[in-house]
Amino acid sequence: MKILSVTSECAPLVKTGGLADVCGALPPALAGLGAEMITLLPGYPAVMERLADARVLGELPELAGHRARLLLSEAGSDRRVFVVDAPHLFMRAGHLYLGPDGKDWPDNALRFAAFSQAAAHLARQGATLNGKTAWRPDILHAHDWQAALSIAYTRYQGDIHTASILTVHNLAFQGVFPPGLIASLNLPANDFHLHGYEFYGQIGFLKAGLVHADKITTVSPTYAREIQTPAHGMGLEGLLAGRASDLVGIVNGIDDRSWDPANDPALAAPYSVSKPTGKAACKRALQERLGLTVDLAAPLFCAVTRLTHQKGIDLLTEVLPGLLARGGQFAMLGSGDAELEHKLIGLAASHSGQVSVTLGYDEPLSHQLQAGSDVIVVPSRFEPCGLTQLYGLRYGTLPLVARVGGLADTVIDANEAALNDGVATGFQFSPVNVGALGMAIERTFELWAQPDRWQAVRAYAMGRDVSWRRSAARYLALYQGLVDRSPQQAA
Ligand code: ADP
Repeated sequence: MKILSVTSECAPLVKTGGLADVCGALPPALAGLGAEMITLLPGYPAVMERLADARVLGELPELAGHRARLLLSEAGSDRRVFVVDAPHLFMRAGHLYLGPDGKDWPDNALRFAAFSQAAAHLARQGATLNGKTAWRPDILHAHDWQAALSIAYTRYQGDIHTASILTVHNLAFQGVFPPGLIASLNLPANDFHLHGYEFYGQIGFLKAGLVHADKITTVSPTYAREIQTPAHGMGLEGLLAGRASDLVGIVNGIDDRSWDPANDPALAAPYSVSKPTGKAACKRALQERLGLTVDLAAPLFCAVTRLTHQKGIDLLTEVLPGLLARGGQFAMLGSGDAELEHKLIGLAASHSGQVSVTLGYDEPLSHQLQAGSDVIVVPSRFEPCGLTQLYGLRYGTLPLVARVGGLADTVIDANEAALNDGVATGFQFSPVNVGALGMAIERTFELWAQPDRWQAVRAYAMGRDVSWRRSAARYLALYQGLVDRSPQQAA
């Protein structure tokens, strides 16, 4: 089974969020199950630098009026990566999607349509990897709007052999562009309608993929249901409800090699469920590093997140005074909304020793926060899957989460029944508002006051399987189901 994973991000090469983690972890997990996934990435500067071994496989058809090449890197023992080498589109300093002015690059439509055309070409033609046999995927697996058009181009080109899956990591990002670009994006004018790529008079990249994919997945069963409703469907709920029989929610796993408290180079001390004592050393080291009062008895709450409306950190700032008054501490790592950043910095300044705010992106610190904290708070208004609560489970940092999307699917609330049954792993709150969040924090303090119970919940949480094993098997079953269909059916 050969799968081409088409994505704009893939950890550890290039990452702005959870999409990268998923795309980085899935290929090795599938390799363990006997499936061969090769990733196709745009040739961003970070990718070109880190894949210095990449060799030229050949020319691609012109992309956006310029020459482009297909490269292959085989440096990773379980990771092979195709790269679209098109410097005019991808070789620019700074953010993947934003220019120096903080706004989307003006040619984003052209960039990702071109990337998707390269993917469709590769799916159809295959690539000669070792001078002999051509590698041609059975499945084109596209991720998010940046890659979604690859599925549509495959269909427009009459490729009936490649089955396709589109995974939606976050429906909030859809790649919507003005219709004046139809010709320059090589989109067929006759598919610009309600049941094609037209989205409220615009071109919808994600919509095109949703319409034409054989199967659609998203990253948790609850989110798969939520996006079929007006509250979470972002204007696509009708289409998604209409495709419900082809829509599957598969929870993400985590890369349990790079996220392993027993073997994590970023940590002050290793620990595990059977030898948990190192966690206290991690907490002490974190408090010291962040200038918090060194106090193991104070419950330390953390958050590692983009600062956007989705993530609900504004709700957390409202309940923070109560949390601090109860003797808790709070440490946060993130960046985004300037107003929120400003507010958080203000809170840190007025509560030195109790609140720490680090703005920016810092991978080692994100590990240290997971290890040294007692609770990770994820108060998202919506959350397709969420990864930080999964890292929290593995690191024995109890997730306190909004009961939405993947958060609802991966955390078991420490209510009395779950505690008595020994199956609780964290705290949930609903609805997503300040009052419910405040009550969940109150329950957290109540459990914290019972150290034996807290430790039992922590041990159970750390023992949960949050790896890719089960989820990779579910993707494989999905691929298998598509390959078993005849090409005519698959088309
Ligand atoms: P999303 O993809 O919506 O941003 P997820 O929870 O699915 O949210 O994934 C976020 C990923 O990015 C996690 O791996 C998290 O640890 C990481 N992350 C977010 N913000 C930062 C930051 N400021 N520094 C380091 N890692 C971060």
